[in-house]
Amino acid sequence: MGCRNLVVVLGDQLDLQASAFDGFDPGQDQVWMAEVREESTHVWSSQVRIALFLSAMRHFAEALRERGYRLTYQKLDDANAEQTLGAALTRTIRELRPAQLLMTAPGDWRVLQALRVVSRSEALPLDIRPDRHFYISVGDFTTHMAGRKSLRMEFFYREMRRRHHILMDGDQPLGGQWNFDAQNRKPLNAKVLTAVPTPLRVEPDAITLQVLSLVATHFKGHPGSLQDFAWPVTREQALESLRCFVAERLPHFGRYQDAMWPGEVWLFHSHLSSSLNLKLIDPREVVSAAEQAYHLGTAPLASVEGFIRQVIGWREYVRGIYWTQMPGYLDQNAFGATRPLPAFYWTGETEMRCLSDALKQTLAHGYAHHIQRLMVTGLYTLMLGVEPKAVHEWYLSVYVDAVEWVEMPNTLGMSQYADGGFMASKPYVASGRYIDRMSPYCKGCRYDPSVSSGDKACPMTILYWDFLIRHQEKLMKNPRMGVQLMNLDKMGNSEREKIRTTAEAHRNAIYPTVESSNGSTA
Ligand code: FAD
Ligand code: SF4
Repeated sequence: MGCRNLVVVLGDQLDLQASAFDGFDPGQDQVWMAEVREESTHVWSSQVRIALFLSAMRHFAEALRERGYRLTYQKLDDANAEQTLGAALTRTIRELRPAQLLMTAPGDWRVLQALRVVSRSEALPLDIRPDRHFYISVGDFTTHMAGRKSLRMEFFYREMRRRHHILMDGDQPLGGQWNFDAQNRKPLNAKVLTAVPTPLRVEPDAITLQVLSLVATHFKGHPGSLQDFAWPVTREQALESLRCFVAERLPHFGRYQDAMWPGEVWLFHSHLSSSLNLKLIDPREVVSAAEQAYHLGTAPLASVEGFIRQVIGWREYVRGIYWTQMPGYLDQNAFGATRPLPAFYWTGETEMRCLSDALKQTLAHGYAHHIQRLMVTGLYTLMLGVEPKAVHEWYLSVYVDAVEWVEMPNTLGMSQYADGGFMASKPYVASGRYIDRMSPYCKGCRYDPSVSSGDKACPMTILYWDFLIRHQEKLMKNPRMGVQLMNLDKMGNSEREKIRTTAEAHRNAIYPTVESSNGSTA
């Protein structure tokens, strides 16, 4: 039987409704999927991330076979398995001689380039169809950008609400406000903590168990742990996860969205990012379930709005930034930061209690919520002066939801301010006092967030002041940094010197073999 279209399905395109399947004729067309080592080694992927992708891919392959679709599927442990997407696809093309390659637009710039190379070298047309998963196309995002001096998520978000008529009352936002942040972002307390529901746990089935064993063998030295693997790997499981979130967590989502608590991994977050990014569920399903909860009176508007903003606002916005700014975006480094990632990011072994907890849960589950990523792990690398590319590679390695189009702008733009303010209106920098306000970490820490010199000095606080001192000139150009710099101005020279010395001592302890900074490194 010949092959008309060879339909390429990547590991994060697990959607039977995707545009690549429009007009699919099982009699003439075939699907191609491949597990290749390179996708787990181009950055040093964590075991949990690899396992999630492979298990979800194998379940999707089963769904295709059940539909009677012909499928070429390379397993990672097949004899003679090719190591790269390009090599694996080339081999199938030479075997099947399809008339053309067809696919939904890939999420990663790197992967798109690799597939184009194959299409050229095999002289085979590559038909790339738009990715309907997203609310906004890259073309429409470009139009949104046109003529704007600076991009801001809030304006984009309002446009999305209007355009898709989400939480609207005519042309006005429901409740008379676009944003309910003032009611959200409260710290947790022990009483509320008792109300945190147990998260949905998906027990590994036979396919997942096989994958877990394969990953443990083939990716032995990779970071992370497979012990608690319980992520949704099928559409049905993802839908169940959505249902549980809306019923049990959404009502409290907004209020405790930024809160952190030692040993509490899941809190009131949705944990839906990996299912969304693998395309097991559609953002419209997620948004409509949340909106319905508001109309049924089971979740307050502030929570529903706060949640929907993440999905139709931030998620779509960062994708637009990625695709309009690549490939140059990766090389941005506004603060000229050059240090390597501290080794303890791969183990969690540090006396800084906030960091240790965020890192250890990340390695154990492939998950940390947004504020842990932004205001703990990301905050520390930014203020320490770690090269943004090294930070990006770490984030791309360790999270189950890590795919480049969403990870890169969040890391380089929002968290490390490497793009100099293209994405975020100011660098997210704060002292240990912020962490103290949003969590009880500091109470059990050997450091003190209000102390900036001596043995008890909190590294977050020291590095915060040191960051402001080192980059004062650059930051002065940003009016949103005014209050922080005004506080710095109150600091005398001897106090500044003390901060610099303490920060230097901290860096020397983190990088014992790296020469101490003379102030020229970031
Ligand atoms: P919830 O808090 O329940 O939020 C709901 C949904 O909104 C998420 O599932 C996600 O799809 C979306 N969302 C929330 N915030 C963002 C955001 N800033 N950008 C895009 N979508 C958002 N998200 C990823 O999906 N993949 C990544 O690789 C990733 N890397 C990040 C790196 C850094 C440095 C930072 C600061 C953030 C990163 N995020 C990433 C965004 C965010 O932290 C995660 O989407 C979120 O923590 C996932 O957990 P959740 O599903 O429980 O989200
Ligand atoms: Fe983190 Fe500093 Fe608080 Fe310790 S004292 S938990 S290092 S912010």
